[in-house]
Amino acid sequence: MSSDPAIPPAFLPWDRSLLEQAVALAARCAPSQTAYSVGSVIADAGGTVLATGFSRELGPAWHAEEVALAKVRRAGLDLRAATIYASMEPCGLRLSGRKPCADHILEAGIRRVVLALREPPKFVENEAIGRLQRLGVAILEIPELAEAARRPNRHLLGGG
Ligand SMILES: [Zn+2]
Repeated sequence: MSSDPAIPPAFLPWDRSLLEQAVALAARCAPSQTAYSVGSVIADAGGTVLATGFSRELGPAWHAEEVALAKVRRAGLDLRAATIYASMEPCGLRLSGRKPCADHILEAGIRRVVLALREPPKFVENEAIGRLQRLGVAILEIPELAEAARRPNRHLLGGG
């Protein structure tokens, strides 16, 4: 955690609906016993959706943010003014050894992340949010959507 005074990231009018889209995408993931079901949306500075992704969409090891980023990378878009929406906090460490989504986000130049649910400490201790913030990425949480983001993961996390 940074000790800098927190500057709350500005809330854009479309943040909630785009995060809801990301949460809805999580329901499309093939269930896994070893990985979360997550949805992701990348939008430009005006809220236009550039790409979407969900966990395992492109193969068994693929994360949602990784899928969405791969799609925009193919289009060669400048993402420095873009926002990435994720139903769950982007990963900072992967047991598979693949590059964490936090690194993909940094490499893409994305400076703004909107998320619904912090990663529950089931598989790894995720410290991606603090790291992204230290590197200048604005993090916005919409906790009202956390329960909906948890729902496609209830086989891993218990509860309803
Ligand atoms: Zn990830």
